[in-house]
Amino acid sequence: MFGLTEEQRIMKETVRKLAIEKLEPRASAIDRDGEFPWDILKILGENGLLQLPMPEKYGGIDADTKTLCMVVEELARFCTTSSTLVCIQGSNIKVISKGGNEEQKDRFFKGLSSGDRITAFALTEPGAGSDVGSMKTRAILEGDTYILNGTKCFISCGEVADYIPLFALTDPEKRLKGGVSAFILEKETPGFRIGKSEEKMGARGVPASELIFEDAKIPKENLLGEPGEGLNIALSAINLTRLTVGSQAIGIAQGALDYAVGYTKQRVQFGKPIATYQGIQFKLADMAIQLEASRSLLYRTAFMADEGDAGVEGLSSMAKCYASDVAVNVTLEAVKALGGYGYMKEYPVERRMRDAISCLFMEGTGEIQRLNIARYLLK
Ligand SMILES: Cc1cc2nc3c(=O)[nH]c(=O)nc-3n(C[C@H](O)[C@H](O)[C@H](O)COP(=O)(O)OP(=O)(O)OC[C@H]3O[C@@H](n4cnc5c(N)ncnc54)[C@H](O)[C@@H]3O)c2cc1C
Repeated sequence: MFGLTEEQRIMKETVRKLAIEKLEPRASAIDRDGEFPWDILKILGENGLLQLPMPEKYGGIDADTKTLCMVVEELARFCTTSSTLVCIQGSNIKVISKGGNEEQKDRFFKGLSSGDRITAFALTEPGAGSDVGSMKTRAILEGDTYILNGTKCFISCGEVADYIPLFALTDPEKRLKGGVSAFILEKETPGFRIGKSEEKMGARGVPASELIFEDAKIPKENLLGEPGEGLNIALSAINLTRLTVGSQAIGIAQGALDYAVGYTKQRVQFGKPIATYQGIQFKLADMAIQLEASRSLLYRTAFMADEGDAGVEGLSSMAKCYASDVAVNVTLEAVKALGGYGYMKEYPVERRMRDAISCLFMEGTGEIQRLNIARYLLK
């Protein structure tokens, strides 16, 4: 990969070794059982991967976007769940870094690096997915407490999280123009409960939960930033999260390509390994072309994000959109390269295909990314 420092190269090798030895062996069982893997969280914590973007002062390494993407990609190549946990924790650390005051950072960063505590991010609602502005969850200040009513859905890690950056309307008239505020929800909050836990097609190690608020009481000191700054706080990490989801898609697809290459060299039909047939070679080559193109776009954008380049907004949408489309295509081609075996759970490409599909929706669908890109082009 272009432009890696010696430190980043060593880190990539170390993460790969860890993923092969400790994470990949668990990937299939995590997918089968659909249970949250506390053991994996612990391993990620012990190896310093849960607090990468946290400022050094709080125990992190202040990792740049490129480093985070590189780690996520390497993990996703072997175990999607591991990469998702690093993505979620990384983006929430960014959100708290942006919106939190010193006291909040001291409180909420505690335990995140070791994996003793975990976060989630709650924006989506049953009636407000792509259209965030139609959010209904309402927070009303009464004395020193915000009273919350509403429902969030599809929240990754929602049911296991200790702290959840959460977005609610404090001024319904203003909506996205200063009407949304950001809070940190703690799991013991009175009036807060977990609703439905979704049965997902893929990415099954990370639960997607409904969060229900019935006169939930959030203390005023858990407001992030000023009232009405919620949207800016949510968007403060958007380029990073689009890029980490994109790098996850690339890692998942790379894992499928690796497996397809090995399989086609072994599988004999018509007296020869199928990898000797040009039809299979073209398929593998096309998968590799798409992957390298999406990787180039993604790391170029990550590099620009680290340089503070203004053009990154349109590019991060392009990188996320393209990488997730490529991942779905490459993983499907890998399934096809294995023939009927590719369709069987015993072979780890169908899992990767199901996992890749989740990348289409996280951090906004392809259509919404295309709208962002067009907005950027036309402004
Ligand atoms: C695996 C997974 C994990 C998730 N994790 C989280 C999480 O941790 N926190 C969180 O807050 N949310 C999370 N989400 C929710 C995710 O962000 C939403 O699913 C996504 O934003 C799309 O919203 P929606 O599902 O309501 O679809 P809708 O917005 O209803 O969209 C339905 C379809 O209409 C299209 N569409 C909508 N508007 C337009 C338009 N203007 N022009 C063209 N097409 C349009 C969409 O692209 C899509 O194809 C997660 C979702 C999934 C699948």
